[in-house]
Amino acid sequence: MSGQQTTEKTSGLKSDDLIVIAGAGGFIAGDLARYFHDQGFTRIRAVDKKPLPEWYQRTPGVECLCMDVSEEKNCRRVCEGAAEVYNLAADMGGMGFIERFRIECLRSILINTHMIEAAYRAGAQRYFFSSSACAYNTDLQQDPHCRALKETDAYPAMAERGYGWEKLMSEMFCQEYWAERGMQTAIARFHNVYGPNGTWDGGREKAPAAICRKVIEAKDSGKHQIVIWGDGSQTRSFMYIDDCTRGIDMIMHCDQLVATPINLGSSELISISDLVSMAEDIGHVKLQREYDLNAPKGVAGRNSDNTMIQRILGWEPNTPLRVGLARTYAWIEQQYRDRKAGKRTVE
Ligand code: NAD
Repeated sequence: MSGQQTTEKTSGLKSDDLIVIAGAGGFIAGDLARYFHDQGFTRIRAVDKKPLPEWYQRTPGVECLCMDVSEEKNCRRVCEGAAEVYNLAADMGGMGFIERFRIECLRSILINTHMIEAAYRAGAQRYFFSSSACAYNTDLQQDPHCRALKETDAYPAMAERGYGWEKLMSEMFCQEYWAERGMQTAIARFHNVYGPNGTWDGGREKAPAAICRKVIEAKDSGKHQIVIWGDGSQTRSFMYIDDCTRGIDMIMHCDQLVATPINLGSSELISISDLVSMAEDIGHVKLQREYDLNAPKGVAGRNSDNTMIQRILGWEPNTPLRVGLARTYAWIEQQYRDRKAGKRTVE
């Protein structure tokens, strides 16, 4: 991690300024709290509606609050005194979750609506919103060999039902708080994030974690089979968590990117079949494949066009998938063993 580069970019922020991070009981925001703590920031307030023992990560020295930020009064309390607010709280999961629970996904609009107003009232200098590649027009993603999505591809809008439309509307809030009220907002469209400390079982997990888990389970059970959702030809890119947290910092503190949605994703495209092969390779096993054509599979193909992030930040997420997946596999394998031993795990 280039501490120097990010410290320079967090210009204006003093080490004892209050940083508020919502959704910090989950994967990305939990990692972001640790990241800022490691950068030397001494006042970090982490918030999530999950009870504290269920948080995926808790960094010592970080204030942790269990609060529902879809309620306005809680948002006011949470944002009190904040210099910067990062909103990563959302009811979300992988394709299995977002195709099935569209109402829950849409209801996350309450979170951003109240958080951004509370941040504004608190006089926060900057506000970050975690958008998603699901905000892009789905008509452009009907082919596994699709061209990568660039920022202008969100309009004319035809976002992913439920989850994607919520992201698009919340982006709009961020743009208007800058246009009408002058609050500096930052909007990153994440493309599939994976890594240690992410959900790996229970229905909300995403493809890389689900596939690692299935390979580990198959090895452990001795039943050398794997069920793949769809026909395996769907393509995606996957961003390693360290690239995501670093990218959030850089985007939030870049004056050229105020109120401007930008891709934050890897441009290394892979099919789901090849992702399975990679996980098998890491696990030193070959499995018999069964394709579940009725399972949720999302759009046929999606990749991140990184021209804009390269041009403006001179950087793009660059952890090779093979490297990040090996680390993720090792972490899930340990979680799997811990669960079998009756220890508490992340799910
Ligand atoms: P996550 O599910 O691990 O974390 C989200 C957290 O928000 C959870 O801990 C949840 O309890 C919390 N939350 C939900 N509703 C809340 C509420 N009302 N009040 C307080 N906390 C609440 O998900 P993640 O992968 O860490 O995603 C973080 C953000 O990034 C989300 O906005 C998500 O939509 C976005 N995103 C993630 C990905 C990805 O691949 N992980 C891709 C695109 C966008």
